[in-house]
Amino acid sequence: MPDDCPPDVNAIGRATWTFLHSVAAQYPDQATPAQQVEMLSFLRIFSRVYPCWHCAEDFRVWISKTENEPKVGGRAEFGNWLCGAHNEVNVKLGKPAFDCALWQERWRDGWKDGRCD
Ligand SMILES: Cc1cc2nc3c(=O)[nH]c(=O)nc-3n(C[C@H](O)[C@H](O)[C@H](O)COP(=O)(O)OP(=O)(O)OC[C@H]3O[C@@H](n4cnc5c(N)ncnc54)[C@H](O)[C@@H]3O)c2cc1C
Repeated sequence: MPDDCPPDVNAIGRATWTFLHSVAAQYPDQATPAQQVEMLSFLRIFSRVYPCWHCAEDFRVWISKTENEPKVGGRAEFGNWLCGAHNEVNVKLGKPAFDCALWQERWRDGWKDGRCD
């Protein structure tokens, strides 16, 4: 599909994960109470407006479970939670889970082998 056609579910997904993980990569080390409230509010709204309706509904159901509540205290916690949320979708789609110990290398610092420097 040419680049200037409307995005399908995969293109929307890739762009959205890039955005979300980049938000986590720039999230404060320790978020203030106000920043935590803002992030929780963002995630609630995000799960209502994400432009793939069945994806959004599954995501809403997943984050509404007590054990999956967003963890927004600081960057490490939030990035790990988001990695887990992304893995949930990966597994649902039959893709391999990503190693969450590597999320900061993938989305913030670049790989240790230096190829992103
Ligand atoms: C909230 C949400 C729900 C979605 N639900 C559905 C759905 O129900 N059905 C559907 O068909 N599609 C869904 N998608 C889209 C789907 O997740 C993928 O984006 C799409 O299938 C394209 O996949 P991809 O293989 O290109 O890589 P993506 O899954 O888009 O990942 C992009 C890159 O992120 C990195 N990555 C992979 N996993 C992780 C992780 N756990 N943590 C950090 N980085 C990681 C990898 O480097 C990867 O190349 C959803 C997307 C979002 C944002």
